[in-house]
Amino acid sequence: MNSEKWIDEELAHLREKSLERRLSVFGEAGGKIKIEGRTFLNFSSNDYLGLSRHPQVVSASRRYLESYGCGATASRLITGTLEPHAELERAIAALKGYGASLVFGSGFLANAGIIASLVGRSDHVFADKLVHASIIDGIALSRANLKRFRHNDPEHLESLLKECPRSGRKLVVTESVFSMDGDIAPLPEIISVAARYGAMTMVDEAHATGVFGPRGSGLIREYGLDDRVNVSMGTLSKALGGYGGFVACSPALRELLVNRARAFIYTTGLPPAVVGSAIGALAVIEKAGNPGAQLLGRAAVFRNRLQDADLNVLNSQSQIIPVLIGDNARALAVAQRLKSEGILAVAIRPPTVPEGTARLRLSLTLDHSEEDLEWAAREIAEACR
Ligand SMILES: *Cc1c(COP(=O)(O)O)cnc(C)c1O
Repeated sequence: MNSEKWIDEELAHLREKSLERRLSVFGEAGGKIKIEGRTFLNFSSNDYLGLSRHPQVVSASRRYLESYGCGATASRLITGTLEPHAELERAIAALKGYGASLVFGSGFLANAGIIASLVGRSDHVFADKLVHASIIDGIALSRANLKRFRHNDPEHLESLLKECPRSGRKLVVTESVFSMDGDIAPLPEIISVAARYGAMTMVDEAHATGVFGPRGSGLIREYGLDDRVNVSMGTLSKALGGYGGFVACSPALRELLVNRARAFIYTTGLPPAVVGSAIGALAVIEKAGNPGAQLLGRAAVFRNRLQDADLNVLNSQSQIIPVLIGDNARALAVAQRLKSEGILAVAIRPPTVPEGTARLRLSLTLDHSEEDLEWAAREIAEACR
């Protein structure tokens, strides 16, 4: 069709720069999967605790499916708030140490809905340079004025806050564990700076929830900052193995979001089976005590192996371990070679990461045994050589 000619040109342009992306279809999900009968270690799954196929999580999901049906059948403010939604929100608030919680359709929708409810056209948002795309889109939706501070740099944040006009609300946003670098924000320093300038604070714990902190409650709680961070955001779709997003906050903020967050109001409530899987996952974590600690221990050993082979893992301090490669085409070639050895490690390229920093992003999960990791570290070192 003539009206679509520009699409071919755009795609050709992506291909030239080795930036074209394609969907691959898999027969199963998780840290260890079979493809055409062959077992692969999957280092691109966010199923950190192996809960997506955990029998107790699956059976909890099934129980809610059978009791409540396939869909919430309405948006949350109409008749789409079922008992399971309320039960899950109580459990999240308790885990996170906040007075209230609100579940959204996804983490992306949570970020979009929260930020646009807290700030508007005459307000100011200060976000770390490396925050997730959903935070950036939430800020764009809010129409607030965006300033980005250098990655994990509270001093730069302070200089931006100092320059900012007094009028308007201020919001400081960061992640606790960064999704592409696997490093950790200096939360106590960032929160102190924000407090000095009267700014609200929001922390995205997508990759910390379930893994860091007492009973997987995240880093806000580990640092004892739950009474100082206004918005503790997270997702049900990573360590919890399911789908959906959430915020833990004060009861007043929850009420504001229920009234203002368009990404909450104008969409159907999460299906009961999905809510049930999150409730099941939280129960499994609670019973296990601290499954994240085991994962982090294995990650530390694995990281040492890669560093011993002279690979650059940036400042990773978590279960997410980048291996910096730089060039887009070379990153793709390394990923291709690892695949032929039985290791899935997707090459992450711009615009997901800054230009010239193409990398392998390795996510460890409890599906990877210590022996698996020893073997994988040797193969990765070999492929990068
Ligand atoms: C994955 C992710 C999200 C989005 O969560 P979904 O539930 O997958 O929509 C938000 N923030 C960060 C930092 C993430 O990594």
